[in-house]
Amino acid sequence: MSRKQPRFMHNVIALVYDFDGTLTPQPMQEYTVLPQIGIKKGKDFWNAVAEEALQTGGEEIVTYMRLMLEKSKQKHYPVTPTVLKSLARNIQYYPGVAEFFPRISAYVKTLDVDVELRHYVLSAGLKEIISGTSIAECFYRIFASEYYYNEYGEAVFPKVIVNDTLKTQFIFRINKGKESLHESINLHMPPAVRPVPFQNILYIGDGLTDVPCMTVIRKNGGYAIAVYKPADTKGLKMCKELLKAGRVDFVAQADYRSNKEVDRLVKLLLNNIVEGIRYARESFDQSNKYLS
Ligand SMILES: [Mg+2]
Repeated sequence: MSRKQPRFMHNVIALVYDFDGTLTPQPMQEYTVLPQIGIKKGKDFWNAVAEEALQTGGEEIVTYMRLMLEKSKQKHYPVTPTVLKSLARNIQYYPGVAEFFPRISAYVKTLDVDVELRHYVLSAGLKEIISGTSIAECFYRIFASEYYYNEYGEAVFPKVIVNDTLKTQFIFRINKGKESLHESINLHMPPAVRPVPFQNILYIGDGLTDVPCMTVIRKNGGYAIAVYKPADTKGLKMCKELLKAGRVDFVAQADYRSNKEVDRLVKLLLNNIVEGIRYARESFDQSNKYLS
């Protein structure tokens, strides 16, 4: 009986994006729920969140999810999956975002037809909103905070919380191929059998909340880019600090159009990752040919 030929598995690249501030200039709530309940300035809401979190010793993501529901209830505004999804059409993106995903996927195919590029979103924002966006279909998976909805379909309680440190859990989920929350990621898994090696992960984020992810990925051989809003001196300063501290490989202005800095740097890193995959594939084949 012939032995089954082992197959090289590490040909998947994960391109992981933070959402708010990375793909969009403002947090998604400022385009969607907040204006509907009469909050014109997002800053007022976020200040209230920070104040409540400080007073109660609460966690900021849980606090924003609770406060948004409370304020919606006061205005008799129903927060349902259908409402959240339909509000997603109001979101504005940085230039070139919509075309970026298919263009970059096509680019990877020109480098190596056997390599698969997956786009992931990893956000503290709301999954229902992101899944209602025009770009949702570009993502292999969306990891984000979620509400529990009651029998009337109204949000009543947070069901999934994604904050800056919890975000790292999802990096390990991608790495180990355990992408559903009910799957344990704590059991030991040797690197050789993890479907997406850290070296095949590239993370794009915009600030301090992305640091845990950037650090975990970079320390394990992966890559990170920090983006900043045009003409935002605070954002640029943050990016410079991340670059200086070695938390990111590169920084760039958040403009996703062809031939702009993000496009060039992402392609540069993807070239590197694809070469790494080719090396690993050759090494795998050599082991099977000469050493087995
Ligand atoms: Mg962000």
